[in-house]
Amino acid sequence: MSEFLFTKSLEIRAQTLKMRRNSSPHMHEELSDEPKFTTETGHPVVGTPHLENRREFLEHAMAGTAAALATSLPSNMAIAQDHPQHEHHPDMGPLLAKELAHPFNQDPNKWLDAHEKEWQECFDCSSEPVTEVEMVCIDERMLMQATTQSGKRILRMAGSGVLWKNADELVNAIESYIKKLANGRPLNTITVKISAHLTCGAAGIAFGNEENPDKAASNYQEGTIVAKLRARGINAVHTGNAPMVKGPHTGIAAAVDCTDGRLQRLPGINSFVISSPNNVEQAIKEAMLALQIAAGSHAYGEALNQFTFVIFSDPARPEVAEQITKALQEQTKEYTAKGMDIRFVTRRAPAVK
Ligand SMILES: [Zn+2]
Repeated sequence: MSEFLFTKSLEIRAQTLKMRRNSSPHMHEELSDEPKFTTETGHPVVGTPHLENRREFLEHAMAGTAAALATSLPSNMAIAQDHPQHEHHPDMGPLLAKELAHPFNQDPNKWLDAHEKEWQECFDCSSEPVTEVEMVCIDERMLMQATTQSGKRILRMAGSGVLWKNADELVNAIESYIKKLANGRPLNTITVKISAHLTCGAAGIAFGNEENPDKAASNYQEGTIVAKLRARGINAVHTGNAPMVKGPHTGIAAAVDCTDGRLQRLPGINSFVISSPNNVEQAIKEAMLALQIAAGSHAYGEALNQFTFVIFSDPARPEVAEQITKALQEQTKEYTAKGMDIRFVTRRAPAVK
């Protein structure tokens, strides 16, 4: 079902782009009581009275085609569309101007060349046995580690995996991923940490019919994904809500890690991050979702005129990055046809030593 909704969200992007900001639905949660975080990237934390967020954007998108969806959705998948309206939206203009002015967005190739050492250090290149795998949302507002840790992998999937076709597909992928990393060691020598987060758009897609989609996603992660992994002898734990930056989506870039999670952080780039466990199709879908969010009515909407995909290829399997790049180039044609500057930059991740 979530894949159906995910696909649906892709199809309705065009309508979403046309929607007005002043007709967005009510937000479920406010983060006003959350501590303010500063991003490692130096991007300021944006304080706004109302949080623009992915789920709100997606619910908005869904509501826009509610009539069409209502005829095709099972009754239990009805999309919430009765939220009170609110009119308070941050002025995204200055935020977009600021992003566009960032040297990375000015010239990604030049920036990556100038900061080669920094971005290379974001990858775990050690041959230390992997003892920890973190599963985090692709959301660019998730806080990142300050340093790279040896023997750790970070997978970045929408809602930590809630948009996969079904739990078994995800669990199968994680299991074979862990087996490969364990390399003969007992599976329980690797801890898999799965986190949720507030105002998660993926939760909104997968559980938009629930009163509290974040909570529903969290329950699904813990009660289904973690439980199924544990049943297979994998030491999986749910770690609750991960810390995140307060404010609307501001990223106008998506980094696609083709190294199966060796990329642990980003050096001063405000960017979504996608890292699937050897699932190219899912990585492509979620990279497109990042663009849709940035171009959606809860981020920059039609004002967005530029978006950059940074593809980090794995020197051991360069064909994965090629396949993803090709698919994204094809799928972003609609955007370029409208005049958006979609950029692709590829860099070879450093090899494992
Ligand atoms: Zn999320």
